[in-house]
Amino acid sequence: MTSSDHSFSAAPVLALDLGASRIRAAVVLPDGSIAARAEGVTRSSDGPQAVVADMIGLLRAVRAAAPTEVVAGLRGIGVCAPGPLDAASGRLIDTPNLGPAFRDIPITAPIAAALGLPAVLERDTVVALLGELGFGAARDARDAVYITVSTGVGGAVLAAGRLLAGADGLAGEIGHLTVDLDGPMCGCGGRGHLEAITSGSGLARAAADLVATGLAPGLAAMATLAGRSLSARDLADAEAAGDPDAAALLGRARRAFAAAMVGVVDVFNPEVVVVGGSLAHGQGERLLGPARDAVAREAFRVQATRVRLVPARLGDDVGLVGALGLVGRRAAGDWAGN
Ligand SMILES: [Zn+2]
Repeated sequence: MTSSDHSFSAAPVLALDLGASRIRAAVVLPDGSIAARAEGVTRSSDGPQAVVADMIGLLRAVRAAAPTEVVAGLRGIGVCAPGPLDAASGRLIDTPNLGPAFRDIPITAPIAAALGLPAVLERDTVVALLGELGFGAARDARDAVYITVSTGVGGAVLAAGRLLAGADGLAGEIGHLTVDLDGPMCGCGGRGHLEAITSGSGLARAAADLVATGLAPGLAAMATLAGRSLSARDLADAEAAGDPDAAALLGRARRAFAAAMVGVVDVFNPEVVVVGGSLAHGQGERLLGPARDAVAREAFRVQATRVRLVPARLGDDVGLVGALGLVGRRAAGDWAGN
């Protein structure tokens, strides 16, 4: 099942997914299957040099574990990491999820030198979009949007078959659309952004604030029993058990997401919007259903009729499989970093 899109690598690639808690590496074959994989914890507290050394070690380990003929055909290395990053120079710019020491850190240069293969770096959401485009829910689309709803909310946009980069390679930050003019502060410093209301971190903060007011006895009792502050998952459990305050917080998160989707559909006129991330996966149709209804009701008719709003298909491996698209597009000259 090699992707019919020639912008995906027709040769095997090395893939690396640098996450806030785990680093995962793999040898990925052109059909999207994985020939070897390895993972380790992200030792952010040991600093950027330790993390880069671990990345190189994991890539060497998966290369050593792959069959000889696959290793001989390796075309390049696709690396994804949380943003913001500078794809053109292959550096992390300022990555809050990894810690304050991760500022202006070269990634592709040391990795390419150590492995003897060209390396390309992109934001995790861009690589997830490429994975879904080649092998998942956005297969063969020319106009597509990928959104992840997890600890944060991120996104990436494909327009007329090309990745939308923006002047600084940072386009697609859908999590920072304003959905509530008087809403809570966002981690980025803005107010009322989608991420502040619908993300795991935003929901946890809203739950803590509500518990502190003393006006949410059910949630307060739950937090006391757990001996910690509540997560978005706790809120989902509380809502399922009939807690009205949890239902109100999650209802607001769903309305904010739906409002943002109306804007995304009107602005980008995509064929498909793919929604991934652990929170979206857990919520399923409870998140997507109201968003579809809002798009049908409030977006322009032509765009609303065109678009499919669907869950991501590739799950945890999306950042690895997407490396085929990253290396392929780099070779074909269509890459957000160009
Ligand atoms: Zn923001």
